[in-house]
Amino acid sequence: MFRRSGLTFLVSISILTVRLNNARRAYDKLKQALLELDFVRPGSVVKRFMPCGKPSCRCMGKPPRLHGPYYQWSYKLRGKTVSRRLTPEQAKLCEEWVENHRRLKNIIRKMETLSLKETDRLLRKRS
Ligand SMILES: [Zn+2]
Repeated sequence: MFRRSGLTFLVSISILTVRLNNARRAYDKLKQALLELDFVRPGSVVKRFMPCGKPSCRCMGKPPRLHGPYYQWSYKLRGKTVSRRLTPEQAKLCEEWVENHRRLKNIIRKMETLSLKETDRLLRKRS
């Protein structure tokens, strides 16, 4: 058995409070980041150079000079890949939305991790 002095008890209570406040602040910051997020688009944008297949074309030469760039957005939906050809302008927009989606997932992951830790702490306090 160990005995806690009143002071140790107070110090540990205030450490808990500080931790909780820090966690709250970090959580609010993540919520703010969510609010600031623009449209999101899952999937990815790829830039491709391709041969057309005509035997006499420069893309079949040595060295081959391929056609492109061609942009494509693709996304795996329920095991099936959905894709869409994009103009360079559309590709630029899509890249931004895809990047936002990556940010969204990152924020959510952080919220989950933080919440799991804090709710564990809150549950322990009430056990
Ligand atoms: Zn060609």
